[in-house]
Amino acid sequence: MSKYVDNVKKVLDDNFDKFSDLADFIWEHPEVGLIEYDSSKKLMEFLKSEGFEIENPISGMETAFKASFGSGGPVIGFSVEYDALPGLSQKKGQATKEEVVSGGAGHGCGHNLLGVGALSAAVVLKDLIEEEKLDATVKVIGAPSEERDGAKTFIGRDGYFDDIDIMLTWHPESKNAIWNGGSLANIIVTYNFKGTSSHAAAAPHLGRSALDACELMNVGVNYLREHVVDSARIHYAYLDVGGNAPNVVQSHATLYYFIRASKIDDALNIYERINDIAKGAAQMAGVEVDINLKGALADYSPNLYLSGILYDSIKEFGTPKFDDDDFKLAKELYETLDDNTKKAAKDNMIYLYGDKVAKEEIEKALATELAPYDGNYGKMEVISSDVGELSHYVPTAQMFLAAAPVGTPLHTWQMCSSAGSEIGKKTLYSAIGSLATCGLKAIEEPEIIEKAREEFDQVIGKYEAPIPDDLKIRDPKVES
Ligand SMILES: [Zn+2]
Repeated sequence: MSKYVDNVKKVLDDNFDKFSDLADFIWEHPEVGLIEYDSSKKLMEFLKSEGFEIENPISGMETAFKASFGSGGPVIGFSVEYDALPGLSQKKGQATKEEVVSGGAGHGCGHNLLGVGALSAAVVLKDLIEEEKLDATVKVIGAPSEERDGAKTFIGRDGYFDDIDIMLTWHPESKNAIWNGGSLANIIVTYNFKGTSSHAAAAPHLGRSALDACELMNVGVNYLREHVVDSARIHYAYLDVGGNAPNVVQSHATLYYFIRASKIDDALNIYERINDIAKGAAQMAGVEVDINLKGALADYSPNLYLSGILYDSIKEFGTPKFDDDDFKLAKELYETLDDNTKKAAKDNMIYLYGDKVAKEEIEKALATELAPYDGNYGKMEVISSDVGELSHYVPTAQMFLAAAPVGTPLHTWQMCSSAGSEIGKKTLYSAIGSLATCGLKAIEEPEIIEKAREEFDQVIGKYEAPIPDDLKIRDPKVES
């Protein structure tokens, strides 16, 4: 066992019960984006009791915070998320679908583990800094509403990442691996059209239809699809169709767009072109359009060097160690996945681990091996995450650790059940240990920060937020 692992383990073992209770509290208080009042309060109180200085609210969000401990030296950052998902209430540790609260929210993305895992790693490092009188600083960024609002974009724009040297992150998953692929940048925007109402039979010539403008806009965007980069994904939904009376010309209608691409600059370029289409559609229909940018987030750009240090740290500390009961629950949960999901899981496992290990992992239904990482970029994950934004401000590494059966998709009742179970606890332990080991290495070996920064300067350089200075995040009290 390396000296780092040894030191981390001692502190972690002494404190794990506290961390585990905290993860239970978050799981048992599932709160959706920007209203994570109980969760954020609990986490801040805990950090305060551990001697961290807390800044809250930040970037106009009551449930966002920044916490710091120590002074000088390298600044190690941890990113903490704690939002749940609507409609995913699910009892823990069981392989049948059963809500805790009818229609309630649930931790179907495992953010109870994510948040507490990262935060606890910061606390372990804090103890080591104190004990060994190390010259270093630990910072925790509490970022709400990862699922919906991309809060890190606002936090980054407001400068809260600027004094952090490296950022260590993780996400509960169904595999143990370094995230070396990218993700999709995403621009979130609504188009509000305003026209003139009239009787659709008696006076159609006096009406100007906002709904017509929406339809024209969507047709325009559908023609645009041929002329954008391959990675682009453009989705829309109607937030307002202008009422339900066919015989009234619709004076208001609203479209909600997600505009994604594998690079933030491409997404922004497509966004500008879609704005032109919206304006053109408004002109054709003789109505007005308001374009309301709600948020935006960059693609994930992993720091390959730092990811290597994190990879070594997982190897040294160890992936989650499950027992017979965990494997039993995992097998039962795995059997609830449909055949297409299992097939996709198999392909992904083969990509990550190779044929032989993939087969063994699938048979156990719970991944225990760490997928090899060769220091290169991997396959892009076709998702968006505001960790992407973070990775454009600070050299960032992220790991996935198995907290659910092989192939379990995120945002499912199965993930919620597993993340609250004893499986999740084993994962939590390994996550805290691996992240803290990596942080300790970066404190003790100054070249780690230097090399990570060197790569960051080459790949990212200077970054500007994809949102204007005066854009505020959604106010949860006004806009649900
Ligand atoms: Zn998540």
